[in-house]
Amino acid sequence: MYKIVIAGPCSVETKKQIFTTAEKLKKYNLDFLRGGAYKPRTKPNNFEGLGVEGLRLLKSAGDKINTKVITEVSNKEHIKEANNIGIDAYWIGARTTANPFLLQEIINEIKKNKKTVFIKNPLCGSYDLWAGGIDRFLNSNIQVKAINRGMFSPFSIFRNIPLWEQSIKIKNNYKIDIITDPSHISGNSKNLLNICLSSKLLGLDGVMVEVHNNPAEARTDAKQQITPEGLAEILSHSGDVITLLRDNIDLFDNWIIHLLKQRFEVCKTIGKQKKQLKQKIENKTREKAIINNLKTLFPEDKFIPPIMESIFKESKKIQ
Ligand code: PEP
Ligand code: MN
Repeated sequence: MYKIVIAGPCSVETKKQIFTTAEKLKKYNLDFLRGGAYKPRTKPNNFEGLGVEGLRLLKSAGDKINTKVITEVSNKEHIKEANNIGIDAYWIGARTTANPFLLQEIINEIKKNKKTVFIKNPLCGSYDLWAGGIDRFLNSNIQVKAINRGMFSPFSIFRNIPLWEQSIKIKNNYKIDIITDPSHISGNSKNLLNICLSSKLLGLDGVMVEVHNNPAEARTDAKQQITPEGLAEILSHSGDVITLLRDNIDLFDNWIIHLLKQRFEVCKTIGKQKKQLKQKIENKTREKAIINNLKTLFPEDKFIPPIMESIFKESKKIQ
C-alpha cells in the first residue's frame, strides 16, 4: 500500500484523452489526478500544453471521477489561472525549484489561497538546493510535500538517478511526506515497478506515475507513460524484495564503474606527465592526503581507506 498515489498523463492533450484516462483510473481512488497544462519545453516547436483550457479539462475530468486534481505551476499567472478554475494542489517542476525569483513569485501568490505544494528536486544540484526551495515555502507557512524525480547524470542507466539518500534526508529533516516520480526517473515504461517498490521499501510515502490512455500517441514523454492497466500491476505488486534491492545495487555499481573509468583516464595522463618530468609514479604523501581529506569529509564512513587503497593500486598499475 502506498500512502499517496498520484497518477495521470504528463500533459492534458484532448478532452477525450483526459476523460478516458480519468475514467479508467477511477477505481484506484487516487489522491490526485495529475495533468500538465503548462509544459516546460526549452526547445521551440514542441507541445507546450493547452494552458487554461488544459486546466479546465483536468478539473472537469477530476470532478467526473470525484478526485482532486494537481498540476504544475511555474509562475504567478499559472497559479492565478489554476486557482480560478479550482485546481486542488500544485507541483513545482524540476526546472523551477532552483530559481529563487520564480519561487518567491509563486509563494507570494500561493500564500493567498493556501494550497498544498509538492516540490520536485531540481534538474541538478545538491541537497541544499532542493531543501532551500522547501525552506522558502515553509517559511511562508505553505503546506509542502516533496517529489523525488531523480537527477540527470550521463552515467545513469535511467533517464535520471533516483535521489534516495537526499529523499530520506528530506523526510527526516523536515518530517514532511515525500513521494517518488518513477516515470521521470526511469524515462521509459520499464523499471517503474522496481522504482516504486524501492521507494516503498526505503520508507518513502508514495508515488506520482505518468499514465495515459494511449501512451504511444502521447504528445510529451511518450516513452515513459504507462496505461491505466499498467498502473494496476504496480499498485498491486509486492515484488521480490531481494531482487529489487539488487537491481538498485546494480544501478549504483554501474555508476561507480563509470566514475572510476573517468578517474583512471586522468591517471593515465598524469602517468605520461610524470614520465616526462622524470617523477616517480608512487607518491605516498599524496595518497595519505587524499585519504585524510576524505576522512574529514565523511568522518563516519570507515570503509573509505581500504577502498581508496585498492583504487590507488589500480591507478599506479595503469600509469
Ligand atoms: C512532469 O511532471 O511532467 C514534469 C515536467 O516533470 P519534471 O519537472 O520532473 O521534469
Ligand atoms: Mn512528463
